[in-house]
Amino acid sequence: MSILVSNLGFPRIGTRRELKKALEEFWSGQISAEVLQTRAKALRAGAWERQKSAGIDVIPSNDFSLYDHVLDTSVMVGAVPEHYLMPKGPVALDTYFAMARGTRGRSGCDLHAQEMTKWFDTNYHYMVPQFLADQDFEQCTTKPLDEFREARALGIATRPVLVGPVTFLLLGKPAGEKFDTLRLLPALLPVYASVLKQLAAEGADWVQIDEPCLVQDLSDAAKEALRFAYQTLAAEVPQVKLMLTTYFGGLGDNLETALALPVAGLHLDLVRALDQLDSVLAKAPEDLTLSLGLVDGRNIWRSDLCAKLETAEKVLAKRKPEKVMLAPSCSLIHSPIDLELETGLDPDLKSWLAFSVQKLDELSILGRALNEGRGAVADALEASSQAAAKRKTSPKIHNAAVKARLEEVTPQMTARASAYPERRKAQKAYLGLPLYPTTTIGSFPQTKVVREARASHAKGMLDDAAYDEFLRRETEACVRWQEEAGIDVLVHGEFERNDMVQYFGEQLSGFAFTKHAWVQSYGSRYVRPPVIFGDVSRPKPMTVKWTRYAQSLTKKPMKGMLTGPVTILQWSFVRDDLPRDAVCAQIALALRDELADLEAAGISVIQVDEPAVREGLPLRRKDWVLYLAWAVAAFRLATSGVADATQIHTHMCYAEFNDIIEAIAAMDADVISIETARSKMELLDAFAEFHYPNEIGPGVYDIHSPRTPSVEEIVALLKKAGERLPAEQIWVNPDCGLKTRSWDETRPALLNMVAAAKKMRG
Ligand code: GLN
Ligand code: ZN
Repeated sequence: MSILVSNLGFPRIGTRRELKKALEEFWSGQISAEVLQTRAKALRAGAWERQKSAGIDVIPSNDFSLYDHVLDTSVMVGAVPEHYLMPKGPVALDTYFAMARGTRGRSGCDLHAQEMTKWFDTNYHYMVPQFLADQDFEQCTTKPLDEFREARALGIATRPVLVGPVTFLLLGKPAGEKFDTLRLLPALLPVYASVLKQLAAEGADWVQIDEPCLVQDLSDAAKEALRFAYQTLAAEVPQVKLMLTTYFGGLGDNLETALALPVAGLHLDLVRALDQLDSVLAKAPEDLTLSLGLVDGRNIWRSDLCAKLETAEKVLAKRKPEKVMLAPSCSLIHSPIDLELETGLDPDLKSWLAFSVQKLDELSILGRALNEGRGAVADALEASSQAAAKRKTSPKIHNAAVKARLEEVTPQMTARASAYPERRKAQKAYLGLPLYPTTTIGSFPQTKVVREARASHAKGMLDDAAYDEFLRRETEACVRWQEEAGIDVLVHGEFERNDMVQYFGEQLSGFAFTKHAWVQSYGSRYVRPPVIFGDVSRPKPMTVKWTRYAQSLTKKPMKGMLTGPVTILQWSFVRDDLPRDAVCAQIALALRDELADLEAAGISVIQVDEPAVREGLPLRRKDWVLYLAWAVAAFRLATSGVADATQIHTHMCYAEFNDIIEAIAAMDADVISIETARSKMELLDAFAEFHYPNEIGPGVYDIHSPRTPSVEEIVALLKKAGERLPAEQIWVNPDCGLKTRSWDETRPALLNMVAAAKKMRG
């Protein structure tokens, strides 16, 4: 027997976003549930065929999902809160989508969607399972079985994928009062056992069971839960071989736990954690099949196949080939689908990339090289080596001036000239703002008119001059309105921006943009992250023109608006030939120049948005310190070049600040605005307890909701804030940018906000 080549999951969305279209047509009533299911079935068939023709031996099933695989799991085990599901039994599609998206006004009842949060450290969001303290579980769907059969009907034997029971419980939350969700494991396992039995009876010999919790810090209770779970499943269903799948990092101190579990196979992420291989090889039992996650499932770079072969050969020196499988590091749902669709990319850049389909080709080449000898795929290996060599030295990537400048960064460059109390005095004298100053987070409504004008301009239907004129009018109207409303620190409205990262990436060197490289963010929402492929520099100012124009319209301070280095990094595909902190520092230097130019243009308040700082936190606590150190340093490098009197703002949304409050304080922004309205100012506690020294704008209303907050409501929130912080520290602003709201919603809300601030002053 030879080495098998496997995949852990294929993107669901379709090369042309077919799933999104089908879902949207279904939700708007244009197509029936049957049509939706038929289209979904065609997408699955296409994905299986594609993997088969790429030469993949072990093809996954049940990796498809109409919305989210964690939601699929909740539904499969009957963890459906009662208000979504009326009678128990098979879960209807309506129930499924009610959990995913909520319902509006259907039969008089408004159901909220289930909570959604990030899947480990990816930009994929899953629906958080909700459990009752006395939750009982029962198998409510047969999706894994159905899809296994569906593939077999096409002549394709698959390895079904399940979210492992321990990871599933750890990802979930109590619906009411707090309890440890792992307590539910004994109740949950019978459902897993029955699903596995059905799959075995149907002919599945292997099942992939994902336990990415194994790359995180685990409590003793969680380790015990893993032992209990897999001992139970091994005893109940000895006939199925389980491929225990870990990804997004190394096993670390969970290695012993993982190796002691009675499973037939263990998948390792050897991209993020190649260093774990030696200890695994030393300690893993001989009959444990090792699945080598060699090809990066999280990024878009082409592999250097010879380097990958060396790793595989190292394993083969110690293990029998029939006990080794090749695989991507994780499911490919985090990669775009097919590079071939990108006809507009620079050919060199394209030759350095690999999307899902190309990654599968790489795996298949590696498999042949190992099974048949390198000679069988000599050309492919040669091409891979050449691409890797060219990338190492290409002037498209390497900019000596940028590298040299980075070398010259001094500690002084990451600190403001004076400490905050001095700066505060200078800013107070210069800006002369009242108590409880009012401002907004940056964007104003991106109306249909604005989006259409941008689209026409992009298509060449609206020429530069006409588009410019349009943006001037929008900006002017926005500035005038803010003045009339009595807001203290104005913004220009961001009408010229498509997206807070893309707008900057398009103006920086070292960035590229794709046309079709979509990845699922959640449900039917996909993103197309920029590609940071080379050293980053700023050929010319990026925001000065619009900010200066907006400032020319008013005597009030106009706040410059930039996206911070960590957020730009976090929301892009980042080059893998430099450490992330170095890439981040390059972006910071480019932004530093932008801040200097804004300041020189007379802008005295500059906001540098960093909503992604928290989501960049590594999965392991021990790695937090290092990450936070370089993330904070990057922000400071970007913002510390300005004079004391120039006020630096930052903004963060949707975050738990408790465990990173020190780092936030270390960023040393003069003012930070945060989202707090939904938590009724509770998120401020972290700042209050820490005695956060600088100024804070705790969001006073939720911009995600169309409803207008009343003056009294805002006053009440500000009073709550006042119980936690001295009045001199408090700013008044909404939770986040207003781009998704309409003007009719925005105007009364901001007028009430200003009225509330005035009441507080009086
Ligand atoms: N300045 C941005 C805006 O107002 C900030 C958005 C964000 O934090 N997500 O849209
Ligand atoms: Zn925000």
